[in-house]
This record gives sequence, C-alpha cells and structure tokens, in this order.
Amino acid sequence: MPREALEALQFARLRTTLRNAHDNVALHRKRMEESGVVPEEVRTLDDLRRLPFTYKSDLRDSYPFGMFARPLNAVARIHASSGTTGKATVVGYTREDIQNWADLMARSLHSAGARAGDVIHNAYGYGLFTGGLGAHYGAERLGATVVPMSGGSTERQIALIMDLGANILCATPSYALAMAEVAEQQGVDLRKSQLRVGVFGAEPWSNAMRCEIEERLAVKAIDIYGLSEIMGPGVACECPAQAGLHGWEDHFLFEVLDPETQAPVPEGDAGELVITTLTKQALPMLRYRTRDITRVTTAPCDCGRTHLRILRITGRSDDMLIIRGVNVYPSQIESVLVGRAMISPHYQLVVERRGTLDHVTIEVEAQCGVDAEAFPAIARDVARHVKSMVGISTDVVVKLPGEIPRSQGKAVRVRDLRPKE
Ligand SMILES: [Zn+2]
Repeated sequence: MPREALEALQFARLRTTLRNAHDNVALHRKRMEESGVVPEEVRTLDDLRRLPFTYKSDLRDSYPFGMFARPLNAVARIHASSGTTGKATVVGYTREDIQNWADLMARSLHSAGARAGDVIHNAYGYGLFTGGLGAHYGAERLGATVVPMSGGSTERQIALIMDLGANILCATPSYALAMAEVAEQQGVDLRKSQLRVGVFGAEPWSNAMRCEIEERLAVKAIDIYGLSEIMGPGVACECPAQAGLHGWEDHFLFEVLDPETQAPVPEGDAGELVITTLTKQALPMLRYRTRDITRVTTAPCDCGRTHLRILRITGRSDDMLIIRGVNVYPSQIESVLVGRAMISPHYQLVVERRGTLDHVTIEVEAQCGVDAEAFPAIARDVARHVKSMVGISTDVVVKLPGEIPRSQGKAVRVRDLRPKE
C-alpha cells in the first residue's frame, strides 16, 4: 500500500481506537482528560503526540482486568506474562483480536519465507506465554502443517525435526543454539534436515548470533518481534532482505522517542520504541512505552514492502547496564563473544557492586577439547576485545563445556547481584 493510503487508514483506525479507549477504559479516559485531549480533537496523525503515555506499571496496577475495554464475556482468550517483580501482566483478546493476530502472524511467517504446505516446528512455549499459541494460529492461518512442540525435551525436538521433515523452526535464538549443541553431541547433523528458515524472537540477539545459528543449522535466521502488552509475536518481522523488521503499520503506530525528553528523535536515530494499537478491541493501548531501544527507517526495502523497518532491537532500556559511565547492553557484549575461537556461544554476565561502582564479570565457556591450560589466555583475549569494542573493563571467567545453564525459552543473560534499592 502506498504510504499516503496507509496513513489515511491509520488515522481512521486511530479514531476508532481512541473512542474505544476513552469510552471503555477509565484509566485512558482520566489520562486524556488530564492532558486536555479528547478523541474528537485528534484531527491528524501528528496529534498523537499530544496523547498521554501508557506504561507496563499501568497494567500491573489495574491487575487483572482494569484496562480491558470489553466485559469478560466478550473476551475469548487471556494470556499473562510472569512478573519477575510483583504481579503478572494480564492481557485479553476478543475473537476478532485473535483473528487479527493470526493474520499478522501468518503475514510475518510468510515474510520470513514460510509458505502454505510447509511443516512448521513450533518450539515456543505453549500456555500463558504468547509465543506458542501466537505462532501456532499464524502457522495454521498460513496453511502450513504445525508441530505444536513447545519448549523442552530437546532430544525429542531434534528427532521430530528430522523425522517429520520440518521446514521452518520457530524458537528463541538461544534455544535454537542449545538444540544445535545437543544435536551435535548426539551425532545428528541438523544441517542435513529439511529446515530452511528459522523464525527467532522473544529475546534481543546480535548479528553475530545470527551468523552462528545460520552456520550451525543451515537455515536463514529471521528476526521476529512482539510483546504481549501489544499483541504477542508478529508485531514486526524481517523479510528475506534481513535489513530490519517490517512493523505492521496497518495495525500499529510506531514512534521512536528520546527516553529522557520524550521528544521524537529524527528518523534513523536511536530511541525508545513507543507503540499504539490500531485494531485491538479488548485491550487498546495508547503510546505504550516498550522500553525497547531501536531505530526505524521508512526507506524503501528491497522486498517491495512499504511498511517501515525497525532496525535490530539493541536491548531493553531496563536491561541497560551503566558501567563506570558507559551504557552497555548485553547484546553488545554478545557480539564480541559469539563466533570467537575456542569458546562456545553460551555466556552469562554477572553484575556486582564493588564499593560505589558496578562491575561486570563475563562467564564464557570453553569449547569441548580445549585444554584448561589455555583458559587464562582465552580470558585475557576476551577481556581485551570487550574493552576495545564495548569500552568497559571486565573480568572474564572461562568455564568448562556445559557449565553455563542452557535456555529452554528466554535466555537468562544477566545475573544481577547488586543490592536491591
Ligand atoms: Zn523487506
């Protein structure tokens, strides 16, 4: 769709969304009244900037159903994300919301290179987490054959990928690597499977990780993005050009703002991704602060799609570490670690407070067969590269093969041992 027509569609849908949020959700109505903007006064897409923000804490504070714009008997499905701090975040969908989600997830899978008739092995967790069912409904809508595997039972996953002839793998990138490792230990060559494309998301990952996965699984590794507060997986997805994730702008409005000043940043500059839903009925979301740091471009893509592209998510502002004044995302350190000789792509960062300063220890793992006498030299080499490429001094500990915990879903990259404030 030409961008002009797309913007006209966005504006019409924004009007409907504002009416829904204002009339049916007390919190949105109160915030709009406080900021002096009622739905009728929003006359252009730019007026969006006058609307108040919504935060994850709003969902927690209105637990469980306070932000629903529909009574529970009109809600067909509930999902929830586990709260590491306090209560879970509960989200709801009408039947039409689920249809739209299936459409967008089918569109994402197609953009990744999946087609009707493919066998899609879905290793995203099923249950309250949106990953499993989100991918499942999209794969069915696409006309594919779904294997609803969920996470865990890694040896069985590998056997089924080989035996059922899976063409597409849906998983977190860290779990895909864990699968590759177990397959190698079992003497199974996943490179010889029917797998063609991997659709990887639910955690930030680096380009180095992409190369590693593409090499070890012999797939095209495609990045997919989503969050349960907005919908679940399928908010944005890469195309075969692998040059950013197309954000599905007929269903969402994307802004990139300076997280401090909240002013829009120029196109192409880094900032916090802020999303407004345009078609959600049960849980309309206005200017949701995702905390994800990224850049966007509306420049034409080689694939011909006109939807803007979200460049790789660098990390979440919540995960950002400030080490002696330097802002660091775990994915920056990952870029240095993954693919380096003699170490495996599994790692953890341990953050501690030493005196008044934060300190990072990087735990890496030696590859099988590397002599322990080489560990000190490996540690020095990793520390030197992190210093020169990321700009921080770290301690590096080299562990034995298999000592770093393997992910079966979202990887735990940071162990934060700093005292809680
Ligand atoms: Zn494209």
